[in-house]
Amino acid sequence: MDILNLVNFNIIQTAENEHDFQIKVETNSPPSHCPHCGCVANLYRHDNKEHLCMDLPIHGKRVGLLIKRQRYRCKDCTQTFWERIDHTIDEKRNCTKRLLAYIEKQSLKRTFTSISEDVGLNEKTIRNIFRDYINRHEETVRFETPNWLGIDEIHIIKPRCVLTNIEERTLLDVLPNRNKDTVVGYLSRLPNKGRIQYVTMDMWQPYKDAVRAVLPKAIIIVDKFHVVRMANQALETIRKQLRESLSVKERRGLMHDRFILLKRHKELTEMDKITLDLWTKNHPSLGIAYDLKESYFDIWDSDTRQKAFLKYHDWKAKIPKELQSAFEPLTKAMANWEQEIFAYFDHRITNAYTESLNSLIRVVNRLGRGYSFDALRAKILFTEGIQKERRPKYQRRIDKYEMEENFPMFKMPPVIRELEEVALLGVDISTLTEKLEKGEL
Ligand SMILES: [Zn+2]
Repeated sequence: MDILNLVNFNIIQTAENEHDFQIKVETNSPPSHCPHCGCVANLYRHDNKEHLCMDLPIHGKRVGLLIKRQRYRCKDCTQTFWERIDHTIDEKRNCTKRLLAYIEKQSLKRTFTSISEDVGLNEKTIRNIFRDYINRHEETVRFETPNWLGIDEIHIIKPRCVLTNIEERTLLDVLPNRNKDTVVGYLSRLPNKGRIQYVTMDMWQPYKDAVRAVLPKAIIIVDKFHVVRMANQALETIRKQLRESLSVKERRGLMHDRFILLKRHKELTEMDKITLDLWTKNHPSLGIAYDLKESYFDIWDSDTRQKAFLKYHDWKAKIPKELQSAFEPLTKAMANWEQEIFAYFDHRITNAYTESLNSLIRVVNRLGRGYSFDALRAKILFTEGIQKERRPKYQRRIDKYEMEENFPMFKMPPVIRELEEVALLGVDISTLTEKLEKGEL
């Protein structure tokens, strides 16, 4: 075994400097026939040229293969041809196939510049290899269109649109932005899009417009999570306004206020309750705001849409004038998205889904920084082993099985087997989050 371990090449000469190896090689299997006429024996060496291809780094040095490539002439048809090197070399990218595979894997983890420095191909070539790699996956990986689609937001450098299968708790795609056109494009290209019955989304108008345009029959639902957090935001606004109007000494009396105010009533400790009562005595509006937040959350415990609707309107009427502006983002959203928000009571999403999506969003927000959008998207969607599958149902019909040849009693004429394929359901959100968190992706 030589330093290269490439079975189709013999080393003629090796040279080395501080940064690089240059290894001169030639193929060790002359052509068996003429590619033009197919004749077997009458081939003669014509001329040769040197062809530089990059290979995997060795001992931290870049490796260039100087291939002495032979041209042949066929005596029968008089045509010439170059000997084949495509068993080992990718001629489009001028590198060995194994280097190409290495670059593909690395391109999901590292910057193109650092790979370029490492292997000796220019950055543009690395980018093209990455692009081809992604396109290849793009063509082969097809996730099943869900019955219940989720459309949300995830931050990778800037806000991006993320699509999920809610029932399977899988991720289907991440789009470069949240524009209507982008989402329309995605939805239009989905196979069997008629099967989408429900779409859960956050309150972003272009999402609604896109779904209305492409999936007019689908029912749009806003997840409770997106709505109730607006009540926390309103309370937060009021808390900050109050703090600004206080002296340093008064402010000290409000230690850990944010932490306590965000708690649900049932989560308050005895000590928290005493503190909250004291604050309410000194700053009545803070107490009212806390109670409004709590009673707003309670609306979501209603068992029917109608009860929730009535409770909401009672609740809204109780907001005192001085707190109305802080609650305005919430009340406005309730007015603009009324239909979709109350649809939640007919089509509830499980907390497990919301929680797993939220933890993915948090992890990506934190880790997303070092990567380009395309690289992070590819890493998320195309890493093997995190895609969820569904095997076809057990087949009753015997002709859908492959016959065991050594069982003569099963000898039958060949049958056309129409086996269902394994359905790819998307990337399992929990597994993905876990792997991202552990740095395994
Ligand atoms: Zn020939």
